Amino acid sequence: MSIDLIVVHGISLPPGEFGGDAIAQLFTNTLDSRAHPYFGSIVGLRVSSHFLIRRDGELVQFVSCNERAWHAGASSWKARDRCNDFSIGIELEGTDDVPYAAAQYTMLARLLRAIRRAYPIVDVVGHSDVAPGRKTDPGPTFDWPRLARLTASRDG
Ligand SMILES: [Zn+2]
Repeated sequence: MSIDLIVVHGISLPPGEFGGDAIAQLFTNTLDSRAHPYFGSIVGLRVSSHFLIRRDGELVQFVSCNERAWHAGASSWKARDRCNDFSIGIELEGTDDVPYAAAQYTMLARLLRAIRRAYPIVDVVGHSDVAPGRKTDPGPTFDWPRLARLTASRDG
């Protein structure tokens, strides 16, 4: 199945805390369940994402775009289920109620342009759009118009 959807996520580990390597550890199955009380509840989850953009804008890739990552879970978009089969997942380190960093928008726009050069992307949506009622990320603080302006601009 061809890749034509991008799903934007927000994630922080432990929830509400930024920095550290817990997200990368979760996506690479190396999270230490004893390092934080919350980790015990999520360790062993089969989750991954193609990309993570940290608060400072640093981009990390965990899964090739040609391979399926486990970011969307039970999901549906435009009458197609299992969005993991036809989407690329991009996680932004953040929470639903804290504004994302300018550097993250800049990197996200740059990444989207690069992905669009390689894949016939039709839609860029939030996790909450493909799993409504179950997921809320990237949350109301994610500035979609800002992303649209950045991706439309010539550089950045
Ligand atoms: Zn998500």
